[in-house]
Parts: sequence; structure tokens; C-alpha cells
Amino acid sequence: MPTLKEHLDAIEAQFDLDGHKLEAILSRFRNRMEHGLEKDGQNMAMIPSFVTGVPDGTEKGTYLALDLGGTNLRVCEVKLDGKGSFEMKQEKYKVSDEHKTGKARELFSFIARCVETFLKSESSSHNVADEELLLGFTFSFPVEQTAIDRGRLIKWTKGFDAPDAIGQEVVTLLQSCLDELNVKVRVNALVNDTVGALLAHGYQSRGPALLGAIFGTGTNGAYVEDRRKVAKLEVEDPIRPVPSSMIVNTEWGGFDDERAVLPVTMFDNLVDRTAIRPRHHAFEKMISGMYLGEVTRTVLIHLIDNLVLFQGFSSDKFNEMYGFDTAYMSAVMADNDGQSSATRKVLIETMGLDPANVGAEDVEAVKRVCHFVGRRAARLSAVAIAAVLQHTNKTQSTGSGGADDVVEVGVDGSVVEFLPQFTENMKEALRLMVGAEAEKKTRFGFAKDGSGVGAALCALQAKKQAQGTHH
Ligand code: BGC
Ligand code: MG
Repeated sequence: MPTLKEHLDAIEAQFDLDGHKLEAILSRFRNRMEHGLEKDGQNMAMIPSFVTGVPDGTEKGTYLALDLGGTNLRVCEVKLDGKGSFEMKQEKYKVSDEHKTGKARELFSFIARCVETFLKSESSSHNVADEELLLGFTFSFPVEQTAIDRGRLIKWTKGFDAPDAIGQEVVTLLQSCLDELNVKVRVNALVNDTVGALLAHGYQSRGPALLGAIFGTGTNGAYVEDRRKVAKLEVEDPIRPVPSSMIVNTEWGGFDDERAVLPVTMFDNLVDRTAIRPRHHAFEKMISGMYLGEVTRTVLIHLIDNLVLFQGFSSDKFNEMYGFDTAYMSAVMADNDGQSSATRKVLIETMGLDPANVGAEDVEAVKRVCHFVGRRAARLSAVAIAAVLQHTNKTQSTGSGGADDVVEVGVDGSVVEFLPQFTENMKEALRLMVGAEAEKKTRFGFAKDGSGVGAALCALQAKKQAQGTHH
């Protein structure tokens, strides 16, 4: 019978991604990006956003933003001051599981009622009776976009599953519910959260940004593409004059759903087969906050079942699917007081294990599993970033050494914000793939409130584009 250590060594080896494996995944990733840009190209989705300019910090005005993402619904009023800063008032509303998985109409009418409540509340400086307000809608799901304010839902991710919404026009759904309530708001931009992060980062860093990336409940990235490379848009381009660039939403969470190169382990298979949507968003299931805790739990249960962890005993909470939240993983990974108090606390108080079954060796094992699951997530994330840098030719130095030789990346999400060592591990892998110099000039910044301020910026951009000015 293998010992705990032998089990762990064998499992860790499966989670380890050395330089060769990274290169293989990277090369496929680039290939899929290019393929996705072609006419009829699908996986990756590479969705044109119809956003043709990135803000530079001089934008001004007050806009509403709505953010439907993983966990909460937010309604915000954003006041852009034209100097790279903003004021934001916001309210959060909890989206119930019934709304997440019920009828589309009910979900959207709930959202519209939240907007109405917000406008009537003290958080809003507006009044429902005032003139029409413009609203940018951050809708963080794959949408087949046909204009800056139009798009049909391709599929749900992250635990949402309202089947009759698939194929429907997202803005029409929302606008008709708002109109029914007589709320004087016009939804003039439909924004993926990654596009929002990119716009927000451009605004806040007051310069050109290349990539907006989310590592949160889900994962995805949007980057500024040369308009001529977006072949799938060639036929019916509604934008005149034809712009020189366009933000593309990669939907990289769906990279390699065919599992040609991803390092799929039996633990990933288990998480996938019990997920709401098996065989979808394979990459996301290895990276994002919705799943990392579950991957970890699955490994730990395997060790329990082999009777090498916690003396073979579990707890109700440990047995429960998704019972080991990614936030607990963060707590375990941050635990370095020398006594492992935080880890013991999670295992005993939160997860309900019997203290008698939690020895020093068990605690170390749990830490080790959290670390290798987290490290793999960070290294896979680096692949996505490296692919965008290479694809856009940003790995060579311009030779100037000046401000223009910096590549700005706006990031947001609970994983990059809270998972210990995520950024360090990601940068280390990035260095392996693009070289130390290119890694160094890639500047990661938090796209603070990307989904809120980004949606407001997109509403402003949509207004500009409607007036025929792109930049
Ligand atoms: C969705 C993306 C979104 C990402 C981050 C993914 O599940 O497909 O549209 O950008 O989550 O929120
Ligand atoms: Mg979000």
C-alpha cells in the first residue's frame, strides 16, 4: 500500500507543468486563437466586441453600469472625471439559484427591478422621472456579438443555466423589462467583463492597454486586435469608417474543450463529469475560483478513500460537492505562522473534521495539495497571457526602453486578488515562455472595479461610435 507521501508525489507529478508541456499548450493556444479569428472559426470563440477604441483617461460623464457576473448583481452609477479617476455609487443584489436556473424572462425582470430600486434609492443622484440615462451592461458570459449593443447568448457558464435564454438577444431581454417598468434607461452597450477590465485599465493607467483578463469565478481575456486580422467580421461590418483595431473577447475558458493538450487528470474528469456543463470550459475548470476548491477537494477525498489522509475519515462538509470553497484554499495557502493554525481551523472548524484525525502530516498534505492545484492554475493562466503577447508581437522590445515599451495588462477577479502566490507563479511561467525581458515589460495592474467602470466607459464609447468617432 503506497504511503501518503507516495500518493502525493504521484499526484503532484500529474499537476506539474514543466517548460515542455507549457510550450505544447501555448502553441495550441496560439493556433486556436488564429483559427477562431477566421470566418466560421469557433473554438476559441474569439468574439469581436465592436469596441474599437481603448480610453486614455480623458473620458468624462455619468453613466449607469450593470454587472451580472458570477456571484452578485451590481448596479452602479459611475462618474468619470476625465483625469483617470471616477466616483462610483453602487448597490449589490444577490441572484438566487432559482433566478440563475429558471426562466430567462424572470431573471431579466429581476435585473430590471434592481435597476429601478437603485434609481429610487439614495445611492442614485438621478430620479426615475429624469431624462434617459445610458447604461453599459456587463454580461460575463459568451455572447455572439453583432454590434456594440447587440448579441445573443451562446451558452451559460459558472453555474447559470436558464435554458430558454440561449440564442436570445440579451439587450432586448433587458430593455423590454426596463421599458415595462417605465424606467428611463437605455442599454447602449453590451460588455464582457474582460472588455470592461481592459477599458477600465486603459482609463486608469491613462495609456494604451493591450489585455484585460479575469481570473475570478470564471476566467477569460480580451485584447486589442488589428482589425484586419478579424477575418470573421469581413462580410458585414456595420462600422463606418472601418476602424484600425477592435477588442476581441477570446472566451479562452473554452480553450481545448476537445482536450488535445490540457493536462487532464482523473480529478479534473471527476469535477467535469459532475459539473453543470460537462465537457465545456475545460480550461476554466482548471483555473477559476468556481472550480479550484472542488479540484482540491476531489484530490483530498481520493487520499481519504485510500486511507492515507485523516485516518480515512471525512466529514459531511468534505463529502459535499463544492464544500471546499476556493476561499478556504486561499486561507490554507496563506498559512505560514509555523503552527498551521489557519489550516487546522479550516479543517476542523469550517470543514468539521474530527481533530483526532487531523495530524501534522495531514495538515502538511492539505497544504501541499492546495499549492500544486493553485500553481497549475497560475501556470495555465500564464499560457493564455503569453499567447496574447506573442500573437500581438509584444514579446520583442521596441528598443526605446521608454514608456512606450510597456505592455499594460488589466486583471481582476478573486483568484488573482486572493489566491496566494498566484501572480508570482504566473509570472515565473510567463518568463519561461516569453523570456525575462518580455515578462518584465508586461505590467499587470488591477482593473479596479473593471466591470462597473468598464461598462460605463463602454456606454460612453458606444455613444462616441454612434456619432462616428472611434477614439
Ligand atoms: C465566461 C466569460 C467571462 C469569464 C469571467 C466565463 O465563464 O464565459 O464570458 O468573461 O467567465 O467572468
Ligand atoms: Mg465579475
